[in-house]
Amino acid sequence: MKYPWIDEYLMAKHSVTKDLQPEWNWIRYHIGGKMFAAILLDDDDKPYYINFKLEPTEGEFMRKQYADIIPGYYSNKQHWNSVRADGEIPDNLLKHWLDRSYQLVLKDFSKAKQREILGLSACGTDCSACPLHGNMCTGCNEACGKVFHCGEGKACPIYACCVNKHRFATCASCGQMPCDVWNATRDPSYTDEQFRKSIEDRVSALKNAGLV
Ligand code: SF4
Ligand code: SF4
Repeated sequence: MKYPWIDEYLMAKHSVTKDLQPEWNWIRYHIGGKMFAAILLDDDDKPYYINFKLEPTEGEFMRKQYADIIPGYYSNKQHWNSVRADGEIPDNLLKHWLDRSYQLVLKDFSKAKQREILGLSACGTDCSACPLHGNMCTGCNEACGKVFHCGEGKACPIYACCVNKHRFATCASCGQMPCDVWNATRDPSYTDEQFRKSIEDRVSALKNAGLV
């Protein structure tokens, strides 16, 4: 196969799992239990197609541009596409299509479910890594933003703006990130350097989740 990086590339995406469908001999990649890509193996376990989703209009357009992308083999031909594993599609273009497929399937879930699947809060925090999680705090998503340090019954200003006001899944959907609300919502124990790093890490977590 021309794309030896593909398994590592797909598994590096946030919250992705894979399995082998033995009857079809497909390696399937899932997000939230839904398939977004597959490597189709022949009887000798050699890849012959890579399947993924695109918006129907984008898929149709790309199939007219490149001979090595065809309607999804053994799949819904409107939404799914197959790339020949030994074809001439450039690596960067295939990576772009796989990214699009991941985003399309993820965005089919409700916004709350997207945050749950990714294990990230609206601002990109991984609450499971916080020392207070599970004892003092249930985590941002579980508390619908009303975390203890915001005061009784009050939502974190970022959650209130992102989820309650704008109805975004995360701040990655907003062109202003990181905004004044982020800059004003600060753990008072942080130094300026720690706070700057915390913002960088959260933006980076949202980017790694393919959401920016
Ligand atoms: S909301 Fe804040 S305090 Fe609570 S678990 Fe998440 S990071 Fe920790
Ligand atoms: S304005 Fe700030 S807090 Fe509100 S959605 Fe945009 S980035 Fe998030």
